Amino acid sequence: MLERSLRAVWHPCTQMKHHETLPLVPISRAEGVWLYDLEGRRILDAIGSWWVNLLGHGNPRINAALRRQLDSLEHVMLAGFTHAPAVELSERLAKLAPRGLGHCFFASDGASAVEIALKMSYQYWKNAGRSAKTEFVTLSNSYHGETLGALSVTDIPLYRDTYAPLLRASAQVPSPDWRLAAPGETPREYARRCAKALEEHFERHAPGTAALIVEPLVQCAGGMAMYDAEYLRRARELCDRFEVHLIADEIAVGFGRTGTLFACEQAGITPDFLCLSKGLTGGYLPLSVVLATDRVYGAFYDDKLERGFLHSHSYSGNPLACRAALAVLDILEEEKVLERNRNTAAILNRRAQGLRSHRRVAHFRNTGMIWAFDLKDARPGFARDFHRSALEAGVLLRPLGATVYWMPPYVIGEVEIDFLLSAVTRLLDVASR
Ligand SMILES: *Cc1c(COP(=O)(O)O)cnc(C)c1O
Repeated sequence: MLERSLRAVWHPCTQMKHHETLPLVPISRAEGVWLYDLEGRRILDAIGSWWVNLLGHGNPRINAALRRQLDSLEHVMLAGFTHAPAVELSERLAKLAPRGLGHCFFASDGASAVEIALKMSYQYWKNAGRSAKTEFVTLSNSYHGETLGALSVTDIPLYRDTYAPLLRASAQVPSPDWRLAAPGETPREYARRCAKALEEHFERHAPGTAALIVEPLVQCAGGMAMYDAEYLRRARELCDRFEVHLIADEIAVGFGRTGTLFACEQAGITPDFLCLSKGLTGGYLPLSVVLATDRVYGAFYDDKLERGFLHSHSYSGNPLACRAALAVLDILEEEKVLERNRNTAAILNRRAQGLRSHRRVAHFRNTGMIWAFDLKDARPGFARDFHRSALEAGVLLRPLGATVYWMPPYVIGEVEIDFLLSAVTRLLDVASR
């Protein structure tokens, strides 16, 4: 199977030649936080399979919801047709999201949700007679996906530089990442200083700017950079004052990852657009959605076809994916998952005390169910070597450069937390020799 995979499958985000020495891991089944290979050896999925898995693999309630849906309707196009799973999910999300986001536009993955938000923002201004507003502002070190439009608002050189000639320019303002605060400056003070820089940018460029796009509270792919909610409050005020949309990309942080159902709640703000994907279906099926305000929706509502949002994806609002999402929302609510997570996070933080003060560890940080630290004096190639040794130790971890992080499924238990932390500590001790 391994050789066949290497020949036939071109794996994502991978230099395929590296697999000459790094073996692929064939997975035959998964349950809870555990992945099982063909020999039955298990690996703790500490990163929720690229941040999508929230409630464990093979979750019985999601499985049952999908089986039921499969017996009535697998798929129907969403233009001209509708179905209960899409309607129920839209109503439910509108109720749960920050107030005022009442209109759900579906797509299939995170990058397409970002494309949709960008296009909608631009067209809103165009429909309002302000077609000069064509520019987008992002935070430095931001990640919003890798299709050309999404990559245009992504600021990670490794993903971006090769394709730079194909991308639209976007403007970067300083990231409120608290690791960049001056000595003695609190994360909140630093967030205010960054908001000042955003204000200065808007003072010069707001008339040509359609939207600011942010990853609320945690810039995940950019190295789990965490920041104070004050930045979001200020950004909301500035966007209002300068007539610029605020796009909240909660593709990675939505559905409880930061401790609240949506990260924006911690700032008490409503963005103009909210992008969701990844955890939306609990890691079961590809689905994304952009929630928009009444005001945005109203700007497209017209007799003229071309004032509408003429954008589509074949699998928009797939009924199976919507059912998985509804099951996720049921579980989060009925099983009081966010409350349980606070307890899980407290246990993990207590047991990570030793790791926090390890001599190779800098900037140990935690927001909700995301943990990260930076390895001091990391060698080149550290991320790949660490990933490999972690796998040998039975844990799936993929450091981002020198940043080691975990973002486990919410069902992780105490024994599994100990297994994870002792594996990480052992690997650091070995790396320090
Ligand atoms: C993963 C991610 C995306 C892209 O989602 P895909 O489904 O991988 O296209 C966009 N924004 C953020 C913040 C992400 O973490």
